[in-house]
Amino acid sequence: MKQRDYSDLAAPGVRELMPYLPGKPISELEREYGVTDSIKLASNENPLGASPLAIEAARAELDDVWLYPDANGFHLKQALAKKHGVPVEAITLGNGSNDVLVFLAQAFLQPGLEAVFSQYAFAVYPIATQMVGAKANIAPALPADHATMPLGHDLRGLFHRVGNDTRLVFVANPNNPTGTWLSGERLKDFVGSLPPHVICVVDEAYTEYAESDTLGDASTWLEEFPNLVVTRTFSKAYGLAGLRVGYALSNPGIADMLNRVRPAFNVNAPALAAARAALDDHEFIAETRRVNSEGMRQLSEGFEKLGLTVIPSAANFLLVGFNRSGAELNEALLKRGVIVRPVGNYGLDNYLRITIGTRKQNERLLAALSEILQ
Ligand SMILES: *Cc1c(COP(=O)(O)O)cnc(C)c1O
Repeated sequence: MKQRDYSDLAAPGVRELMPYLPGKPISELEREYGVTDSIKLASNENPLGASPLAIEAARAELDDVWLYPDANGFHLKQALAKKHGVPVEAITLGNGSNDVLVFLAQAFLQPGLEAVFSQYAFAVYPIATQMVGAKANIAPALPADHATMPLGHDLRGLFHRVGNDTRLVFVANPNNPTGTWLSGERLKDFVGSLPPHVICVVDEAYTEYAESDTLGDASTWLEEFPNLVVTRTFSKAYGLAGLRVGYALSNPGIADMLNRVRPAFNVNAPALAAARAALDDHEFIAETRRVNSEGMRQLSEGFEKLGLTVIPSAANFLLVGFNRSGAELNEALLKRGVIVRPVGNYGLDNYLRITIGTRKQNERLLAALSEILQ
């Protein structure tokens, strides 16, 4: 095909955009490296798979896929409203929570306006901000030698960046790719300190993994703060990353704006049914949490034995620091059939983000790393 560069015709925000870098799929690794039996600890997926109840519900929907899905997601919204004790008008469904993060940018940002977030915050925040031509105002993270929360969010730094042009503040709790977190108490004070023209987005993609109630549940603060948005996903603990379902909870006035930019059929029928069923699978979530906390202990001990730096995490992954390039280590791991996530795109060159797997997967990763580091 004839080559032609179209960047000059693209909107300025799009021209400068750095695309999201996904974890390498297993099939791609096996094609490119000629390895088999590989494992993926790169995208914070649930190593136990999906909730069996969710899979059954998705399958049952397949007979009806010639019909458009319910654009209002009635059954899922009813269940979510009950779970969180909010009216259905407070809910915006997304094709993954990535979708609702983009709706927030589309609805509330434009050239001349700003989003504030932390250095090392989730990569979708800068993408969503830039794509609509708004400015990312980034607060430096806590230093790598910080006593309790190295590389974590600095709430005071975030607060100082908020100004007249700020419309959104993104805070992931816990954060990806660092795994670091904020206590619910401190985060709640922060939300309460923001002026009314600023919407605070608390991204709770990993909240099901938190082992204590330290992080709090921002969805319980919605009554108090009309400018709060809480996002959740079925991609992580619920194990439905491939189906793409997430949601935002907010004041109905904010949800109204988000639903105006939302494509009508953004969540497909099997996904709606699976998410609805997954909410009732308490056993699956309990087992997921158990495997994760055991794996967290296993990997942390293993990494420390290898003399590596482990950033504290409240999620289902660990950010691990090395005294050499993460990209090179990643390459060596790929050759051994282990996919992890290099985070050079976040400015974390000497780190790897590693999803906590099953006991066996964790053993395999530790063995490969120890061989490489010898
Ligand atoms: C994975 C992740 C999401 C969203 O993922 P979806 O699959 O789009 O729901 C959102 N925020 C953070 C911090 C994440 O790590």
